[in-house]
Amino acid sequence: MIAELADLEPDARRCASLLQDLLRVRTVNRSPLDPSEKDESDGEREAAQRLADFFADHGIESELLEGFPGRTNIVARLKGSGELPPLLLNAHLDVVEADETQWRVPPFEGRVQDGYLWGRGAVDMKNMAAMSAAVLVMLKERGVPLKRDVIFAGVADEEAGCVRGSLWLAKEHPDKIRAEYMLGEVGGFSLNLFGKTFYPIQVAEKGTVWLRATYTGEPGHGSMPKPNSAVLKLAKALTKLGKTRLPMHPTEAVRGFVDGLAKGLPPIQGKVLGRLTTPQVAGLILDYLVKDDGQRNAFAAMLSNTASPTILHGGNKVNVIPGRASVAIDGRTLPGQTEAAFLQELRAVLGEEAQFEVFHRADPVITPTDTPLFAHLGNVLRRHDPTATPLPYLTVGFTDAKAYAALGTKSYGFSPVRFDPTADLSFSRMYHGHDERIPLDGLAWGLTVLYEVVSEFAGAKTL
Ligand SMILES: [Zn+2]
Repeated sequence: MIAELADLEPDARRCASLLQDLLRVRTVNRSPLDPSEKDESDGEREAAQRLADFFADHGIESELLEGFPGRTNIVARLKGSGELPPLLLNAHLDVVEADETQWRVPPFEGRVQDGYLWGRGAVDMKNMAAMSAAVLVMLKERGVPLKRDVIFAGVADEEAGCVRGSLWLAKEHPDKIRAEYMLGEVGGFSLNLFGKTFYPIQVAEKGTVWLRATYTGEPGHGSMPKPNSAVLKLAKALTKLGKTRLPMHPTEAVRGFVDGLAKGLPPIQGKVLGRLTTPQVAGLILDYLVKDDGQRNAFAAMLSNTASPTILHGGNKVNVIPGRASVAIDGRTLPGQTEAAFLQELRAVLGEEAQFEVFHRADPVITPTDTPLFAHLGNVLRRHDPTATPLPYLTVGFTDAKAYAALGTKSYGFSPVRFDPTADLSFSRMYHGHDERIPLDGLAWGLTVLYEVVSEFAGAKTL
């Protein structure tokens, strides 16, 4: 175990110290989802400035770009020969809230303790910002000739939907970030399961369809109940939605993920898990054989379009039966699924009477795995962890990949970090969790992996 920053090799120490600086900046995202509402977040400007100073200290120019006050993005570029199109390294600078009363150490102090660097953003994903910036500096210092430009983007506002960050950047400054490939969120971390070490690499993410479903009924006085009121129709429909799993559509990414996991299991369990991609039996396996609620929900969300009811609106007087009642639904669609097909599935549950109004949409993203970069990621991982099994991974949330996909960029979730297989700690517990932290040796390992991935893929001499 590496206990102190001073015990790290110089490159890793510089990276860890930059990460520590970034962790001390409160970049908590408090954006309202509607960009016209008042926004109280502004930490990204300071974080972007720290990165700009780091680049300037090492002779690399960078540019701060913001379309919304305080919501700053930073872009830096190392020029290559232009023989091949650029490679982009992306990290969001914002973080989610941290409830300090639930943490063992202060979340914005950048404390080093027990071999870890602690703080909100340690794995999601200021580590990638620090590693990527450090990689650019290492390439420059070592004078590595490049056949591709290597671009770094540190972006604002990912945690609230990317509107003021990567989406804005892709729309307003596409030429500054256009690349053939992007490496970013979510993946590259070690995941220890069944005594094996897997490395999920995001190759796909779900789409978003946010909608309102409204029911109408005859209004009236609360003293005379109406069994067919709008509120009761809505309640019945939601009860049904809560009990229904939408149809399964196993995608290629999920097949790769499930098959890879299944190979790591003892034969009988592996065979059962492998059947999760067979729609006829997947529901039974989930309900009767996956005992852990969290795991069941995670698998279920990868296999179907999903619809979570989130905001309810009904009457506003206790003695008046309202004529309308509505629910906001967070819908997520699998790669290959259209909005229309999803709404049809939802209609079958909520009934003909529901009026749908979609108010936000984003398409799913999928990146093929038969590319030289995807193969290279697996090779470098295995070079530094011979037990590594790379797993293509579908994330059910959204990431900056959506913004770059609009420019034709192929994105992989790859922000490498290694967790000690014997420590009871995982990326998924750290991600938005209390006591977020990164092992110092795991960060140093990630920097080496990322440096080799980039220098070999973008370098003029190799691959
Ligand atoms: Zn993140």
